[in-house]
Amino acid sequence: MSQRHLSPEDLSLAASWHAETQAVRSGSQRSEFGEHSEALFLTSSYVFGSAEEAASRFKGEQPGHVYSRFTNPTVDMAQTRLAQLEGVESCLMTASGMSAIFLSTLGLLSAGDHLVASRGIFGATQQFFGTWLPRWSIHTSFVEGTDLEAWKAAITPQTKLVFIETPSNPLTDIYDIQAIADLAHAQGALLLVDNCFCSPALQQPCSLGADLVIHSATKYLDGQGRILGGAVAGKKEIVMDKLFPFLRTAGPSLSPFNAWVILKGMETLSLRLFKQSENALKVAQWLEKHPNVARVYYPGLASHPGHALAKRQQKAGGALVSFEIKEKSESLEAAPYASAWSVINNTKLISITANLGDTRSTITHPATTTHGRLTDEDRTKAGIRPNLLRVSIGLEHPDDLIADLARGLDKL
Ligand SMILES: *Cc1c(COP(=O)(O)O)cnc(C)c1O
Repeated sequence: MSQRHLSPEDLSLAASWHAETQAVRSGSQRSEFGEHSEALFLTSSYVFGSAEEAASRFKGEQPGHVYSRFTNPTVDMAQTRLAQLEGVESCLMTASGMSAIFLSTLGLLSAGDHLVASRGIFGATQQFFGTWLPRWSIHTSFVEGTDLEAWKAAITPQTKLVFIETPSNPLTDIYDIQAIADLAHAQGALLLVDNCFCSPALQQPCSLGADLVIHSATKYLDGQGRILGGAVAGKKEIVMDKLFPFLRTAGPSLSPFNAWVILKGMETLSLRLFKQSENALKVAQWLEKHPNVARVYYPGLASHPGHALAKRQQKAGGALVSFEIKEKSESLEAAPYASAWSVINNTKLISITANLGDTRSTITHPATTTHGRLTDEDRTKAGIRPNLLRVSIGLEHPDDLIADLARGLDKL
């Protein structure tokens, strides 16, 4: 491998590039064949020149690859690119977003440690914290993310990690990264931000005080709905010194093929995120004026309670828009999902799927899909009403998306 792009001078040059340049250039390494597009290294192991070399590679005395559970050139390229996009020193990629959360929590916590998380987090993350981590005696307090007093009360000297996702899913609440980081640090805890919905194109949590960034690369980093992947990024002393040895042993590793797809996906990250945010704003503005829509959740709208904070933390509003259908309480009681399902079933263009972050727009009914496993009480607490719909806006023309939503909404 040519190390041409990885010398310290090159790394600092790359750090000075704009995000668009980093997205297509950072992390690239070239083999002896001089390929222009990054190669896909589908290999589980690497050959050593001698027994001595094998021994020193295994000990970490000599740089170079050992085994693809923890070192692979294609995965390395993707990790370096994402680290630069997030403006941090180090990044580790994992098999999925959930395995990034598994790696960063179990890699940093021990039995008896306490975790504090915002209530509005991804369903599987909530289940992992709420029902699996207690088996290792790690307990989580869930707080209302917009309430700084609640954070202050929940974070104690036993708290080792604070976890947020902003904007939240599906209600797009905006949490104050800097303020929550300050509260966490005052008690000696680290702040982890799941930056899935903004991606580094729109928000760099570590520049706002977070210690670690988590990604489901399945969403915007790939951006085209093809693969699963995840990432943890931050300071070298946490990512490489604490998490890397755990990844090496526990093995929630990313496949080189998926790393290659993500590497190429990241090249268009900024283009996609800004265009998808622009489309989402148009759809949100249209929904806000629709007579059958009661409420729109989109941080790019001036009516959103987190609008000013979003403008400070994010470069655009993102591509997730949620809205509640206006209906009488009697009809909501008699047939709680009827209107929401009818809007979904009248679409012809937007895909009916719970995935998000794709170039194709998708629509889902959170109460019966992503949040269907919650108890009615927990769902109400999380603010997921039966008449709520979530759309993830893609790269189609916004007028076509509006026409597709109008088909069902106009009829109600
Ligand atoms: C999808 C998602 C995850 C989990 O990622 P997977 O790649 O599906 O494991 C975590 N956090 C957020 C915010 C997500 O949207």
